[in-house]
Amino acid sequence: MLDNDFSPVVEADKAHVWHHLFQHKALESRDPRIIVEGKGLSVWDQNGREFLDAVSGGVWTVNVGYGRESIADAVREQLVKMNYFAGAAGSVPGALFAEKLISKMPGMSRVYYTNSGSEANEKAFKMVRQIAHKRFGGKKRKILFRERDYHGTTIAALSAGGQPERNAQYGPFAPGFVEVPHCLEYRAQWDLTGEAYGQRAADAIEEVILREGPDTVGALCLEPVTAGGGVITPPPGYWERVQEICRKHDVLLHIDEVVCGLGRTGTWFGYQNYGIEPDFVTMAKGVASGYAAIACCVTSERVFDLFKTDASDPLDHFRDISTFGGCTAGPAAAIENMRIIEDEGLLDNTLAMGARLLDNLNALSEKHAAVGDVRGKGLFCGVELVADRGDRTPLDEKTVAAVVAECDRNGVIIGMTNRSLPGLNNTLCLSPALTVSAEQIDRISDTIDAALTTVLG
Ligand code: PMP
Repeated sequence: MLDNDFSPVVEADKAHVWHHLFQHKALESRDPRIIVEGKGLSVWDQNGREFLDAVSGGVWTVNVGYGRESIADAVREQLVKMNYFAGAAGSVPGALFAEKLISKMPGMSRVYYTNSGSEANEKAFKMVRQIAHKRFGGKKRKILFRERDYHGTTIAALSAGGQPERNAQYGPFAPGFVEVPHCLEYRAQWDLTGEAYGQRAADAIEEVILREGPDTVGALCLEPVTAGGGVITPPPGYWERVQEICRKHDVLLHIDEVVCGLGRTGTWFGYQNYGIEPDFVTMAKGVASGYAAIACCVTSERVFDLFKTDASDPLDHFRDISTFGGCTAGPAAAIENMRIIEDEGLLDNTLAMGARLLDNLNALSEKHAAVGDVRGKGLFCGVELVADRGDRTPLDEKTVAAVVAECDRNGVIIGMTNRSLPGLNNTLCLSPALTVSAEQIDRISDTIDAALTTVLG
């Protein structure tokens, strides 16, 4: 493969592909990067150059690493037998994956298949709205989301998006979505730290519920660890209080596990670090590690039961379908993906290697004044860069991008946050595959160390 001449591919790409998150003017002076092969944590571009991928496919997806023949075999075997059937019928891998998944999610019960994280979130939003209509006379239909969180790219998902710069130019948005404050202690809105900050940030959610009226609020949708908005690990005591508030006001809790799901934080799901009992859990990226497109909206039996009413009323079920929710490649790949995580002990590796990565990154803060805050849970870490440690002025976006580019030049692909808030695009992101070794962890942090020295001195 690597001996191939990829120039026709490069020309075809330049002529016809519209890349995600990309200003195409840049291709007037250079070629696009085409990733042509992958194995483990390594990827190769069209010129045969090898990179260590520290972000699992750019957007924290390939949890079990590249080149997994057993997943390809499972998908092939399934596709030649039965590739697709949609609607009310089930499928063999659909049933077996649901059973396997629920066995790792005590308290949850039903899996609704779809094909992207955005769509999985929209399913949960629609369920909340339908519950409001069925049970609360159309009230309790507002959905709360958090500043800096992201739930997807469609207009309704963007309406629940807490990153204003990402939403700019795409309004008007859907009504009925209300923002609550973020919980990033490093950029605290109140003069508090530790548990006191965690409690205060959670209480801020209750203030919004009380302001809007508890009888109008149906659900609260949160990421367990905010991903693109800054790799924000929750402060102590936060989640316990959030759960209490939701119970008190009969607000359904929707956890967006699109990034944290399937092992990223060292537990099967991010919420399981915090003792939460959710009503909805949505997931996508790591479900099949990118070997097939699959996403799920998982609900508790309590939610499912609300839809089990009068079988004779044709309007009285969840009136929703996802065409590609009927593809069998997704659940076939997902079963094998889970088997790999289990049999190779990848949750334990995530905890061990995540701790090593966090230690290495914390050591960087002793060496580089630009390292303002280091955050992480499992193999999901962020390094917030600042121009001034004293007043925490964020490092400007161009300089942060130069650090990322310098790592790339040295063969390590790392990421940076989205423009979560104006002026705040200053966090390096790391999310290597859960198979990462100690040597690879050290290479990632050594490369960042060298890039900070080169760019910032
Ligand atoms: N939720 C979160 C937390 C995400 O990070 C993303 C994607 N980056 C989504 C939802 C949307 O997923 P998708 O791109 O598959 O629609």
